[in-house]
Amino acid sequence: MDKLADCPCCGGKAEYIGRKMFVIQCQACRIRTQEYRSEHAAAQVWNIRNSIAKEAAEYTALQWRFDKLIQENNVLNERIEGLETDREKQKP
Ligand SMILES: [Zn+2]
Repeated sequence: MDKLADCPCCGGKAEYIGRKMFVIQCQACRIRTQEYRSEHAAAQVWNIRNSIAKEAAEYTALQWRFDKLIQENNVLNERIEGLETDREKQKP
């Protein structure tokens, strides 16, 4: 049997369910895959969903960091413009 990744939603442990058709289900929050003809097929879907969820979370974190950098950049640009204006005023 394939090793199952932890639940992409809550981090809970996953388990195999079924005899003829198989699903993978989280023991904690009960989200589950569709039914598949083999344990391996169900496990592949479960593990892929998990890695997609991880990538989406990483992407969101990067997007948030990027937005923060843009904001910081705007603040610094305003400060530089302010300093340049002050310098212009001080010229004799
Ligand atoms: Zn879960």
